[in-house]
Amino acid sequence: MGLPISNLNGRMILDSRGNPTIEVDCYASIDIPSRAAVPSGASTGSYEAVELRDNHDEKWNGKGVDIAVGNINGIIKNSLVGIDVSDQEKIDKIMLDLDGSPNKSKLGANAILGVSLACLRGAAGIGYPLWSYIAKNEEKCTLPVPLMNILNGGAHANSNVDVQEFMIVPHGFTDFKVALRAGVEIYHTLKSILNKNNLLGGIGDEGGFAPNLRCNEDGLIYVQQAILESGYKPGTEVSIALDVAAQEFYYEGKYKIDGKLISGLELANIYSKWISSYPIVSIEDPFGEDDWNSWIEFTKKEGHRVQIVGDDLYVTNPERFEKGIKLSASNAILIKLNQIGTFTETMKVIKMAKEAGFRTIISHRSGETNDDIISDIAVGTNAGQIKTGAPARSDRTSKYNQLLRIYEDCNEYTKLF
Ligand code: PGA
Ligand code: ZN
Repeated sequence: MGLPISNLNGRMILDSRGNPTIEVDCYASIDIPSRAAVPSGASTGSYEAVELRDNHDEKWNGKGVDIAVGNINGIIKNSLVGIDVSDQEKIDKIMLDLDGSPNKSKLGANAILGVSLACLRGAAGIGYPLWSYIAKNEEKCTLPVPLMNILNGGAHANSNVDVQEFMIVPHGFTDFKVALRAGVEIYHTLKSILNKNNLLGGIGDEGGFAPNLRCNEDGLIYVQQAILESGYKPGTEVSIALDVAAQEFYYEGKYKIDGKLISGLELANIYSKWISSYPIVSIEDPFGEDDWNSWIEFTKKEGHRVQIVGDDLYVTNPERFEKGIKLSASNAILIKLNQIGTFTETMKVIKMAKEAGFRTIISHRSGETNDDIISDIAVGTNAGQIKTGAPARSDRTSKYNQLLRIYEDCNEYTKLF
């Protein structure tokens, strides 16, 4: 039994792209609030829960969140004051009932998630480690393998690269800190390689470099070179993961990549070649969110060689995920809390994944805050993997830094791949 919620206070803050987002303070009969902030995507799947924006073009470029904040400080607060802060299911259910829509469009998934997570922190208690509160039903916890996005393209960069994320995966170590160090060193090596090749331009939304390249495969070449030049063994110590985010270049049944319009099957053949030539262990969103057949065929063909991750395909939604499990459309799922909008529903999807033998990756969004709750959730659910951008920019390093804090109490490192 926890304490009753005595007050909720939502407010607008800015995210890492300079857009408004929501922060919520939850008071549970003490003066110090527990606080949570909500991230925001750019390559959002169309089946995601609705992020409520004010849509006044003249203010905040239409991205204001006054209505969503008003919902927190009005109807949500009035319904939750007095409820036991540790009764997460009840809190989330009350908000779902108040919203009443199939996609949280009435109150806004951003409003609902902010409250859900602020209450979660309130229930864990100030000063008590959140990961171990979440882990109460887990047999053991391990630190997640980080998928570190060091070269950004797609919707996260102003470049000609179609693949959204080239990530390094430092999986061949027995210690998280050593793995993180490898990732950081490779990030810096990549910077000097791109610099030498006159390719060092901007930085993408997730802190990775954002060069213009001759073709997408060049991204694999440079990242592999960076692993090698940093003194690590590609494939056994550090591998590569891609988030293609293919929905972003899907037009009427075809994919436009490297300037050519190709079929799902032709795209799958490109991936197969890449998997044979580079140390790739994971491919996320290789096809569009409704191109189920390409997903199924590709998982049949390559699922034994690589992890195939559904992000836009499942949008952390139990119904879409159930379909994917039945069809064997992938063998892993990306978990983003704001795609579904409550902690309870997120936990349900993680449980479904574990029961179905799917791997789970807890993920940030491209628009982030310094809230580091996904680190505690990744450890507390024993998810195995976390995706939280480059090891640079405080919106990304806040998550790695929280993992370093957790490491002081829990230093078991996941063995994967
Ligand atoms: P998003 O990108 O937050 O812009 O959706 C992250 C991802 O696609 O994994
Ligand atoms: Zn993705």
